[in-house]
Order: sequence, then structure tokens, then C-alpha cells
Amino acid sequence: MYTQILVPTDGSETAEAAVDHALDLADQYGATVHALYVVDTDSMSLTLGGEQLDRIEQGQYGEMEEVREHADRATGYVTDRARERDLETVEHVSAGKPHSLIANYIEDNDIDLVVMGSHGRSGIRRALLGSVTERTLRSTHVPVLVVDVEND
Ligand code: ATP
Ligand code: MN
Repeated sequence: MYTQILVPTDGSETAEAAVDHALDLADQYGATVHALYVVDTDSMSLTLGGEQLDRIEQGQYGEMEEVREHADRATGYVTDRARERDLETVEHVSAGKPHSLIANYIEDNDIDLVVMGSHGRSGIRRALLGSVTERTLRSTHVPVLVVDVEND
């Protein structure tokens, strides 16, 4: 049923809560686990110049190494746990609009299930769903399993 499972992560506690669900399903179905972190360049556009943003989009972090380190920690959490269970993993970091790049990744990698958090780092619980989750649901036709830490 599922062969390529995507876990988009922003490194938040809620995104991490989704990981167990993704890994358990990957175990059951023998699926590959993809961990994706998108560096949100829109949210950085107030502090970084256009040239710096362009470089990040090309994967060149330079003096902005800590951005890359944060991303690698977020995806590494997923892949470390997946490897402990002998699951196949793919780790990817990109930069741009999170929901668009999540949707592109789904298309380009034949993803057949997405497992993600209901909320993320901004942690504002007024909205039923965080904006990345809501926009991902609107941008894709593959099933999305939304995990809420409160109901975990
Ligand atoms: P908002 O960002 O709308 O203020 P929020 O931070 O609480 O609210 P989202 O950003 O939608 O909520 O996060 C929900 C889920 O989306 C996370 O648990 C994670 O799975 C995924 N996600 C959020 N941001 C990213 C990102 N930059 N890269 C990859 N996945 C992300
Ligand atoms: Mn967010």
C-alpha cells in the first residue's frame, strides 16, 4: 500500500511526535522513509538580503551555517530513528516555501503517504492546523496522516 513515506519536519516536538507513526507504518509496509526540511526563505526575508536568500535556495549556506545545522538536526532525528529500525531512509533539505516544496517533493519522489504534525515551531494553537499542514493538504492528493501531540 505504502512504499515511499514522507515526513516533513521543522524539528518541533509535534513533528517529532509524527515520526513514530511514520516509522511504524514504514515497518509494516517495508517502505522507505523520506525526511524533508524546508528552510522557509519567506520567513527569513526580513533579516536576510536577496543575495543571501538566493544562495540558500541554491544550498550554499556559507556564514549561515547554523541554518543548515538546524535543518540537519531536524532531518537527522527522523533518519537516526529510522536506521535504528533498519528502515531505508532518504534525507533532504531544500529552501523556499515549505508547502510548495513539500508538494514538489511528493510529485518528484512518488511519495504515497505523508506523515506530519498538526502544528509546528510557531506553536500557536488558535488554528486547528498550522499553515504548512493546511497548505500541504490543499496542494496534494496523496493521503496525509496528521499527528497531534496532544492526542498522541
Ligand atoms: P504556522 O507556521 O502556520 O505559524 P505552526 O508552526 O504551528 O504554525 P506548521 O508550520 O504548519 O505549524 O507545522 C505543522 C507541521 O508541518 C510540522 O509538524 C511539520 O511536520 C511540518 N512543517 C512545518 N514547517 C516545515 C518546514 N519548514 N519544513 C518541513 N516541514 C515543515
Ligand atoms: Mn510553522
